[in-house]
Amino acid sequence: MSEIKKETSLAIVGAGPGGYAAAFLAADLGMKVTLIDPRENPGGVCLHVGCIPSKALLHVANVLNEAKDAKNFGVSFNKPKINRLRIAEWKTDVVKKLTGGLGDLSQKRKIEYIRGTATFADRKTLDVEETAGDQYRLRFENAIVATGSKATEMGGMEFDGKRILSSTDALELNDIPRSMLIVGGGYIGLEMGTVYSALGTKVTVAEMTSGLLPGVDRDLVAVLKKQIQERFDEVLLNTKVSDMRVQKNGVMVTFEGKEVKKNKRLFNKVLVAVGRKPVSSGLGLENTKIKVDDKGFIEVDLQRRTTEKNIYAIGDVAGEPMLAHKASHEGRVAVEAIAGRATAFEPRAIPAVVFTDPEIAWCGLTATEAKQKKQKVEIVKFPWAASGRLATLDRESGLTKFVIDPETEQILGVGIVGLGAGELISEGALAIEMAAVVSDVRLTIHPHPTLSETVMETADLFFGESTHYYRPKRK
Ligand code: FAD
Repeated sequence: MSEIKKETSLAIVGAGPGGYAAAFLAADLGMKVTLIDPRENPGGVCLHVGCIPSKALLHVANVLNEAKDAKNFGVSFNKPKINRLRIAEWKTDVVKKLTGGLGDLSQKRKIEYIRGTATFADRKTLDVEETAGDQYRLRFENAIVATGSKATEMGGMEFDGKRILSSTDALELNDIPRSMLIVGGGYIGLEMGTVYSALGTKVTVAEMTSGLLPGVDRDLVAVLKKQIQERFDEVLLNTKVSDMRVQKNGVMVTFEGKEVKKNKRLFNKVLVAVGRKPVSSGLGLENTKIKVDDKGFIEVDLQRRTTEKNIYAIGDVAGEPMLAHKASHEGRVAVEAIAGRATAFEPRAIPAVVFTDPEIAWCGLTATEAKQKKQKVEIVKFPWAASGRLATLDRESGLTKFVIDPETEQILGVGIVGLGAGELISEGALAIEMAAVVSDVRLTIHPHPTLSETVMETADLFFGESTHYYRPKRK
């Protein structure tokens, strides 16, 4: 590597929602910022091959499903004509529009965006390799590692992009296969299954544990499971995929498990969505004092500072939950710490959303966690069958629930399953962050008719005084 060519105040490695949010705030605070990423524009996994393209395709799925269901109230359409290439092009346009916008915002803020990769030579120096070919050393005062995560492969059954797909391959929409096996019943698998089943693929999900969305409260998942069982071909629980063989006409999959009826089956394609792992190797971290745990996450303190004082780590590479909004928030905390502000990453509630139909969203303490911790809580559930707004939307099911401290009546957790749960959950996050008690939500007038009223009525229900759902008073 050549001698030092450049110097900067803050170097950020990786321009995902963590890295670019950090870069933008740092520039706004007057720092000289260098942001490095191999992609043409900022956005990282989330904008290029994650949150945004998946949600664009889920919008297409929702339109198709709604059009089909419209016959219930007397509106029917002819069989939809699906132009796969146009859908893929539209999705790519959405991605380009947003990532191009981030490129513009970066330029306006006078951030130096380097297209390439960087590795640590020592605690003050990065070796930069530009995509265009230039190689040089960049000296920095502070750095932020924001290199994100990548999809986990199954041993001996690697992605080939044609038959065995990663989520990135599946988002390309190169094909609408007749049948698809999705390995893993987590949120990425279920979201992609929702897309492909709406487009006409026979979708089978195989999940190793006893339920979909492991870790999420079962009563929320039950509502989704009912819908998924109608739309997907099959949901195989307690089922392990032990082998996959690519052959001319598809992938021959071997299943193992007590409930497995046929242990060898052929699918056109397989999407492997068994989790993601942090990108912490190959970054030259061994040339610094930065510590990495046994799962590959970089160890950080409350300000996201690593064990090397002038280097911070944020986002997927710095620990669970691997979510874009968590990455951005951490990025801003790290920059504030660098700027000398009193700051810490101490959220009471990081909302999580599964963008299936219906959506599932939760934040704060879940009922499952309360049970594991043996924490005494009261749980209140408002079924959406009692929501007038839901009936006008021709839907039947949904649930809003609160996890409450019975002594203080403080809201500790909120879970929602139903149409638009992902939008509704922010009220729960705000309530928890504000340390709201149930009466705070109850005394807040919610507009009628909306699904947000279910949040207010859950609060009323805690006192046995909900207008639209009867539950005897608490003693
Ligand atoms: P990333 O977005 O992973 O970005 C890291 C960047 O660092 C990448 O661009 C990478 O190229 C770059 N990089 C890596 N190594 C180097 C190096 N040595 N030098 C320079 N650059 C480097 N999250 C949500 O919150 N909501 C969703 O709806 C959602 N949907 C998702 C759907 C899918 C299909 C997937 C795969 C993920 C989804 N996620 C979602 C997760 C979300 O994408 C991640 O949590 C988020 O992108 C993490 O941001 P990050 O900044 O940590 O890193």
